[in-house]
Amino acid sequence: MQLERKRFAVALVLVVGVLASALARADESAGPNRFDTVVIDAGHGGDDEGARGAAGLVEKELVLDVAYRLAKSLAENGLQVVLTRHDDSFVPLETRTSIANDVRADLFISIHGNAIHDTKIRGIETFFLALSASDDHAGQVARRENQAFRTEDTPAKRSDDALVAIIGDLITNEHMEESNEFARLAQLQLAGDPKVARGVKQAPFVVLESVQMPAALVEIGFLTNRLDEQLLQGSEERDRIAAALTRAALEFGQRYDARRGVGSR
Ligand SMILES: [Zn+2]
Repeated sequence: MQLERKRFAVALVLVVGVLASALARADESAGPNRFDTVVIDAGHGGDDEGARGAAGLVEKELVLDVAYRLAKSLAENGLQVVLTRHDDSFVPLETRTSIANDVRADLFISIHGNAIHDTKIRGIETFFLALSASDDHAGQVARRENQAFRTEDTPAKRSDDALVAIIGDLITNEHMEESNEFARLAQLQLAGDPKVARGVKQAPFVVLESVQMPAALVEIGFLTNRLDEQLLQGSEERDRIAAALTRAALEFGQRYDARRGVGSR
């Protein structure tokens, strides 16, 4: 039975592979895919407030404001922008990913604020998806951020649905290199000061799992650190983050288009 299932899974993967390349060819004949659409995902919302700083800064409010600033900045640079959340409401995981997939975005940026028991730790971390975390801390960040999306039936449903998982992995792997590339560009632009650059890490974030495009999750600072919280309360730091992510997206877009043989806009 187990073997039968495996064989079926392998056959299905092959079929999906053939379909995917056929679709890619169809895409090419319709003209190359230019980098023009970015989805911005503000973490949390509604009852899920995310992290909270000692001075009262709330992650769900911070990241929505930064998402709007980034959206404005990207739009000013000629990009189409779609937000997964527009107000203080809880948006389910499936809705976030289907918004991104439906508009066939070229890049998915999820924005979050960090939290850790050691209040001395501050700085910026950028993540892209992996099935296992690159270190213990990265694993903890993913567990915390995944919490709101975990329902009681999720783990069972997932292991039962092995085929979907395999297909999901195929799609995601296709974008792994580009996700890594964007994460590195974002980290480079965001963390100008080496003291706050905590690097690019990998972890199993569920919000990055099903998006069919390059995707990264940015932790814009630690709400548990007094200095980071103070900075993030002000417009200056929020605008700095939006500008840095805009530069990273534009640079990524140029490389993306060059790889696909599309001239610059
Ligand atoms: Zn978060």
